[in-house]
Amino acid sequence: MSRQMGDSHRRFLQTMMANGIIDEQGAKALHQHCCETHNTQCAPDRLDDFIDTINLKLQPMFMQIRKGMSEDNGHQYYALVNMVENDVTRMSSDYADNELELFKKTMDLIVGSEDGKASSTDILNSTDSMTTKKLKKSEIEHLLNRLVQDKWLSEKRGEYTLSTRCIIEMEPYIRAMYQDQVKVCHICHTVAFQCQICENPTCGIKIHNPCVARYFKGRTEPRCPACEDFWPHEIPEVRRPRSQSRR
Ligand SMILES: [Zn+2]
Ligand SMILES: [Zn+2]
Repeated sequence: MSRQMGDSHRRFLQTMMANGIIDEQGAKALHQHCCETHNTQCAPDRLDDFIDTINLKLQPMFMQIRKGMSEDNGHQYYALVNMVENDVTRMSSDYADNELELFKKTMDLIVGSEDGKASSTDILNSTDSMTTKKLKKSEIEHLLNRLVQDKWLSEKRGEYTLSTRCIIEMEPYIRAMYQDQVKVCHICHTVAFQCQICENPTCGIKIHNPCVARYFKGRTEPRCPACEDFWPHEIPEVRRPRSQSRR
């Protein structure tokens, strides 16, 4: 297989730079589109090889296209990540110091919560202990919208979670920064925020909601994969990727 980066690779990378993150279906369609545009042979099942070729070129720039799972739907995503600055300093060209402080506080709330979420009220209250210039309520609302737009946070009914892109990019930072608090999924071994927890106090393993759905699918009596206690939580449905239609 050719390890040379061609026009099709460059086009793929340009789209990744513009979007930051793309789901697996979108990445497959984009791969095909890039190969067709530049009349290069396309092996649809070799997407990961295609991306490896790009990653080889990105290495000296400390960038990488990395794959990870969405905690919402369990689908795989590809994100273009910065490997050196995988903490919030990465965002300092786009956000002021006090905005970054509030983002960090939001992250503290999310990591420290049971369900991986922070409500807008909790975020507003957390500004009381800010050390940088305090933000007004309207400024906070505006900032939270921007963080969602820039794909650092996701929002559903006034509750904020870390976005898939943020988790893929900042996993090393989160693991280092929140060593004692961070949860790790027993099934896929990546960091977990929105997850179910075994209620056996001597066990207490965590499993992402989509990993729960896949692991227990078709099992009549759900039992913890570690301690074999009954798994008392509601088992979510496995969510199928959307049909492969061209957007
Ligand atoms: Zn998992
Ligand atoms: Zn258990």
